[in-house]
Amino acid sequence: MADEAFVTLTTNDSYAKGALVLGSSLKQHRTTRRLAVLTTPQVSDCMRKALETVFDEVLVVDVLDSGDSAHLTLMKRPELGVTLTKLHCWSLTQYSKCVFMDADTLVLANIDDLFEREELSAAPDPGWPDCFNSGVFVYRPSMETYGQLLRMAAEQGSFDGGDQGLLNTFFSSWATADIRKHLPFIYNLSSISMYSYLPAFKAFGANAKVVHFLGQIKPWNYTYDPKTKSVRGEPQDPAVSHPAFLGLWWDTFTTGALPQLQELGLVGAAPSALTLEGVSGAMSHLSLGESPTTAQPFVSSEERKERWEQGQADYMGADSFDNIKRKLDTYLQ
Ligand code: UDP
Ligand code: MN
Repeated sequence: MADEAFVTLTTNDSYAKGALVLGSSLKQHRTTRRLAVLTTPQVSDCMRKALETVFDEVLVVDVLDSGDSAHLTLMKRPELGVTLTKLHCWSLTQYSKCVFMDADTLVLANIDDLFEREELSAAPDPGWPDCFNSGVFVYRPSMETYGQLLRMAAEQGSFDGGDQGLLNTFFSSWATADIRKHLPFIYNLSSISMYSYLPAFKAFGANAKVVHFLGQIKPWNYTYDPKTKSVRGEPQDPAVSHPAFLGLWWDTFTTGALPQLQELGLVGAAPSALTLEGVSGAMSHLSLGESPTTAQPFVSSEERKERWEQGQADYMGADSFDNIKRKLDTYLQ
């Protein structure tokens, strides 16, 4: 089991907050596998130390440094930089099998059974279920596969400009070849599904094993009020109208990541460690809890419609289930 690992990625201090919580949640649910995080040099030393308290391995990767011809071709495609960094997970050949998880995922139960699956196992994407969502997938590290993926990125690019498009083209038989490679949706439940199929969410949501905060606004963009154990915001703010999973994310931060950070002296070691002041201190020190208002620039309804049609619904914000329900209710009345 020492040669199997959960792997995540962060290219900056923001996503590192997500990685910390993901790693903590895996530990809270007693994984027996190793925890590895890929970082880039943009991640600060302070944040790297914080990651070391949770992960067994904190690796620094800089795909643009390689000098390999595929890389050089890709250097002219800076928008694929982050995609390339995720592909780097195939180069972790010290492990025989891995589960990659986006830094914006949160584990709600032990998911070590995923290691019984083969490459490439993943759950359907809620937006286009013939594609898999690349936020959670089982794979086998291999320099050969890594090279082939880089070549494909250089020669063909990605149909969505991100890693998901590329990986779906590369593992194109996923949709039809082997049903065992279709992970149950509860291993990658995106909050988007709450309103796109609410009865199913009500029936099966309680079995969720992994929540994926897919989309533009991430949990760390909100401010958490430890007093009320809730995500702070105006009650009518649609961004906080589905607080359960967001609250759980923050709860995992305060119980799983904060104590270690304080022990390390990375966060003010106030005796009131887990009280309001302690957590606020942690927020300011690690600049956690950015204001949701700054993260949500005004978008005209025409522009929102356009984004919706392109599959970029702001499901946690303006296009949240509660907002849509409110609108439907006004029509029904
Ligand atoms: N990521 C990162 N830095 C970025 C963007 C993305 O490290 O600036 C990593 C991170 O692990 C993240 C994953 O790439 O979870 C995929 O991006 P994201 O989760 O934002 O995409 P979504 O799931 O919302 O489509
Ligand atoms: Mn994601």
